[in-house]
Amino acid sequence: MRFEHENLPQRIRFGSGEAAAMLAGEVQRLGAVRVMVIASPAEVGRSQKITSDLPVVHHHEEVTMHVPVEVAERARAAAARHQVDAVVSIGGGSATGLAKAIALTTGLPIVAVPTTYAGSEATTVWGLTEGARKTTGADARVLPRAVIYDAELTVSLPVPMSVASGLNALAHCVDSMWGPRADPIDRVLAQEGIRALRVGLPQRDRPDSLGGREHVLYAAHLSAVAFSSAGSGLHHKICHVLGGAYDLPHAQTHATVLPYVLAFNAPAAPEAEQRIASALGSVGAIIGLQKLRDQLDAPKALRDYGFAESDIDGAVDAILPAVPVNNPRPVTAEDLRRVLHAAWQGTDPRTAIGDMPGRP
Ligand code: NAD
Repeated sequence: MRFEHENLPQRIRFGSGEAAAMLAGEVQRLGAVRVMVIASPAEVGRSQKITSDLPVVHHHEEVTMHVPVEVAERARAAAARHQVDAVVSIGGGSATGLAKAIALTTGLPIVAVPTTYAGSEATTVWGLTEGARKTTGADARVLPRAVIYDAELTVSLPVPMSVASGLNALAHCVDSMWGPRADPIDRVLAQEGIRALRVGLPQRDRPDSLGGREHVLYAAHLSAVAFSSAGSGLHHKICHVLGGAYDLPHAQTHATVLPYVLAFNAPAAPEAEQRIASALGSVGAIIGLQKLRDQLDAPKALRDYGFAESDIDGAVDAILPAVPVNNPRPVTAEDLRRVLHAAWQGTDPRTAIGDMPGRP
């Protein structure tokens, strides 16, 4: 066994119903006295409840998915105008992403309060969009100094968003099994993440089930820590192109594409297949994933989210050069076409992709 693994410096606080107190503690720890709070109009009510004890000098509500550069510029200008010394983001990956865009150019510390399972709060990855072009990069400055996880803040998430976002976390775990820098520590974190998702996600439609939501939030953190270390594997390379060039919704795209990539890679990655299967409590990874997806009524086809059959060839051309060289099996244009066509149509991955072990 020979590997390198970097742990990221970040404080994690986890406690249901304790966001306000934990947040006040972290802002005080930073010594911040002029705080900018980022929360979209939909999050404002939740945000006000947990920030009333903070020295807030500016509430910023302009939050847009994939962080358009002009939105980032306006947020940076507001931070400068109000002379803020810390940024608090409350919301999903889009709110966290905007805070990261500010930190990227200013070095301001972030305290993140995630309310979805996207996991951006635990990675050094930032993303900005200019026109239809999405640029991403990794920079230590954008990593939030502290993260506050409070499952009560997820109770308001609509069930379909809970499911899609939870499967986005599951996709982080699966890609962490074979990402370009995947190591044994990432695989253990990812396996535990999948197990916790399997326990928590089926309790999605019980808003009173804080235990289930805590499992999913805990899993979202593990998935992001594993993914940040392992790097983007085939699944994320595909979704990055689909999200950037075709403007597909982030979580739903991940939730839809995942079983096809798993069906494609699993036969060539027996250790990953076994870990995923065991975390899902199943005899096979793809069988276990499909069982969970059926139970959750998960997103099924890319055509439901605006991706057209005629987009497939262009997407294949854009994805092929980005395929990681260490993918468990070689990937041809024809393979990608087959994966994307099946995902576009929502065909059962067990029959559409073939080659899988453990076919029922
Ligand atoms: P999002 O932040 O856009 O949220 C989706 C929707 O859910 C929004 O309408 C939001 O208002 C709503 N919402 C959020 N929390 C809610 C709650 N508790 N109750 C009710 N509604 C709520 O979507 P997302 O999937 O969380 O994040 C996607 C973005 O994050 C994308 O831009 C993606 O690229 C980025 N991302 C980045 C990383 C990274 O490591 N940098 C990782 C994952 C995702």
